[in-house]
Amino acid sequence: MAPTKVLAGARVVLPTGTVDDGRVTVEGTRIASTGPENAETVDLSGHWVVPGFVDLHNHGGGGASFTGGTAEDVLKGVHTHRLHGTTTVVASAVTGDLHFLARQAGMLAELAQQGDIAGIHFEGPFISPCRKGAHDEGLLRDPDPAEVRKLIDAAHGQARMMTLATELPGGLDSVRLLAEHGVIAAVGHTDATYEQTLRAIDAGATVATHLFNAMPPLGHRAPGPIAALLEDERVTVELINDGTHLHPAALRLAFHHAGAARVAFVTDAMDAAGFGDGRYMLGPLEVEVADGVARLVEGGSIAGSTLTLDRAFQRAVTVDGLPVEDVVRAISANPARLLGLDDRIGSLEPGKDADLVVLDADFALKGVMRRGEWVIDPRLG
Ligand SMILES: [Zn+2]
Repeated sequence: MAPTKVLAGARVVLPTGTVDDGRVTVEGTRIASTGPENAETVDLSGHWVVPGFVDLHNHGGGGASFTGGTAEDVLKGVHTHRLHGTTTVVASAVTGDLHFLARQAGMLAELAQQGDIAGIHFEGPFISPCRKGAHDEGLLRDPDPAEVRKLIDAAHGQARMMTLATELPGGLDSVRLLAEHGVIAAVGHTDATYEQTLRAIDAGATVATHLFNAMPPLGHRAPGPIAALLEDERVTVELINDGTHLHPAALRLAFHHAGAARVAFVTDAMDAAGFGDGRYMLGPLEVEVADGVARLVEGGSIAGSTLTLDRAFQRAVTVDGLPVEDVVRAISANPARLLGLDDRIGSLEPGKDADLVVLDADFALKGVMRRGEWVIDPRLG
């Protein structure tokens, strides 16, 4: 077993608040205590220690795709995001042929069973052609509960979330089916009205897929899905905080309205995250990444992001002006709770997995620990 480690001297963000000159003791893979202790000490004065990040919506990174890649590709993408503080990631598939998606889900399910990923998110194919974003229009279809069921089954108990346009025929029945199977029904890539969105929430939808993006804008006479998703206490809203998908004022509006308990920061990252500019594929569609912004070659629609959660964290504090403790909830605790993993991850508490991130005073990432082992050792940086 690895020696007991004590991280000392940092400001540590605990569920009960931030402790100056805090200590986190790690024994094996778990957090043993967050109080004083005698053991090997890692001096982290002038730093922050926060829980490892949890990404609910992520299509790949490091040049590798969760959507079309092999198991080896997926592990490469997972590792890339770990280097940026994401210690738990759900692999998101984009719209594809149903047989292809089922096959990909089978492969991803094995990785989930091994603990490499935290399950599968199906984004499409049951989404609106009016708000398709970077999804192949020719492969979109109305939600059919029988087909939804096939994808759930293909994921062997590892389906965690499905994004769908709930206003389409079969949408509400599909939401009910997902909820019955313990799969999060997420409203997204939708052209629904305010009223239609409320019906989806009543049917069991609990997440808004990248709020604001790929849905009608907020109007004062036609408030649309955004107002419904923000005001209903049962819903957690995903936000892509890369500075391209959302203006800081829109982000703050959502954050303040929903409150820190109902926001989840996600990357919606594609293969170029943690890799670089160039040409990529997102499912069957070609994407050009320039200056870190991914757009479809045809039509120019934004095609996912190149965001990593360390940048989302830093931006939230330094650009958006959000309190550190609120950002920790949005980037770790809330997504962990949505995944039903909050007994093991999402906060720094004794008994939980030793998944944590070390940030410097400017909120730049300096260290990452997953299950008690350094992915990045802050003493080497
Ligand atoms: Zn996505």
